[in-house]
Amino acid sequence: MRRGSPFSRAVLGLACARAGHEHAVRPWRGLCDCGSPLAVRYDLPRLARRWRRGSLARRRGGLWRFREVLPLAAGVPVTDLGEGGTPLLPAMRLGRELGLARLWIKDESGNPTASFKARGMAVAVNVAVALGRTVLAVPSAGNAGSALAAYAAAAGAAAHVFMPRDTPRAFLADCRLLGARVTLVDGLITDAARALREGAAGDWTDLSTLREPYRLEGKKTLGYEIAEALGWRLPDVIVYPTGGGTGLLGMWKAFEELEALGWIEPGRRPRMVCVQAAGCAPLVRAFHAGEPSAAPWQDAQTAASGLRVPAAVADFWILRVLRDSRGTAVAVPEASLLADTLRLSRREGVVACPEGGAALAALRQLAADGWVAPDEDVVLFNTGSGLKYLEALEEALAAERVAVG
Ligand SMILES: *Cc1c(COP(=O)(O)O)cnc(C)c1O
Repeated sequence: MRRGSPFSRAVLGLACARAGHEHAVRPWRGLCDCGSPLAVRYDLPRLARRWRRGSLARRRGGLWRFREVLPLAAGVPVTDLGEGGTPLLPAMRLGRELGLARLWIKDESGNPTASFKARGMAVAVNVAVALGRTVLAVPSAGNAGSALAAYAAAAGAAAHVFMPRDTPRAFLADCRLLGARVTLVDGLITDAARALREGAAGDWTDLSTLREPYRLEGKKTLGYEIAEALGWRLPDVIVYPTGGGTGLLGMWKAFEELEALGWIEPGRRPRMVCVQAAGCAPLVRAFHAGEPSAAPWQDAQTAASGLRVPAAVADFWILRVLRDSRGTAVAVPEASLLADTLRLSRREGVVACPEGGAALAALRQLAADGWVAPDEDVVLFNTGSGLKYLEALEEALAAERVAVG
């Protein structure tokens, strides 16, 4: 470790996603001067010479087993709540129903605070605290707030969470249970973000999606885990419910890094599928219009609160990855999203969240259209637990009773 720096020596600095502008990792920096998100750069050729994938066999599970490609040096103690290391489940019953022989579910519901937001917050909170930033804030549609609250509590930092007033109640309850200061805001997550910026004191650190570089680093471990679980091969297709896009971008970064490390065959990346709800689909609209960025969505509405993101700061970057991967973008109607939340749970025994239901509804369309072939390896994301969305799920169950009669 360099004296005084908590960063690993493999960290070269930060680079902006739009133009490659470079910055140092210290002091703390959120965005590039040009307004673009930043990503951590590593000295991968150097890591490739001394780090073998076989070394992982001797390590315990979880996110920190990929420590060499995470920003903090090995000697820096981290707050670890057991994030990552989630199963890639073979989805035989669902696969038969969709006519897909090789379907997998990456089930993220077992993470701390019951969603994959834990991965990003684990890394971001640890880096922030290592740099002496101890008042942390986030606007959230639900899960990001819960995850920040948990890691801040465990790391001894203060957490401020700004949420839409109509966020499902469980998110509010667990933020408060975990000691976060919660501010409810009329409107959407973009309004919550504005309220945060207006209310922020000088010592606050804003951990909004992709407005700082480290949540991406936590999310990228999804890509490492999928590659490892499939024997260092990548699937043909990844179906991902997209709000701000951290997971999708994080996985793509992981695949770039894995190629540079020589751990996977180059040039065989998955086609990435961005799934949004029909009531809030700015990225889907922009993708199919051939636009380089996405106009904000008006009157965003969906029970999949993680997808109720009318504008994403990394829109241009997500669209670029979708095109580079020869992927696509799919908007699913609210009724099929909810129906498929129930089906995903009942076919495979995972307590699916509405975002996972959206992913399944999209895959159903893609399989029916022949965009996905029957023998392709497909990874479908269940990004969190449905237990946080009781209001929406009870409504879906009631609607089902009415339909059955
Ligand atoms: C936040 C969230 C998403 C969207 O994730 P992004 O990385 O912001 O695209 C999907 N599902 C759930 C359950 C979420 O909490």
